[in-house]
Amino acid sequence: MLIITCGHCGYVLYEGNELKTPDEVVREYSGVCPKCGKILKPSVQNIRILK
Ligand SMILES: [Zn+2]
Repeated sequence: MLIITCGHCGYVLYEGNELKTPDEVVREYSGVCPKCGKILKPSVQNIRILK
């Protein structure tokens, strides 16, 4: 399972089995974290892969 969280507050932006790039996920949120309101950059997103 792929989990992508906000690098600022830890909000889970994407969780699932589909492989996505941080770029795609950031675009779905219009580049802003819905929780903390900070601008999402692919470089600050945390990506975790769980089995
Ligand atoms: Zn956030």
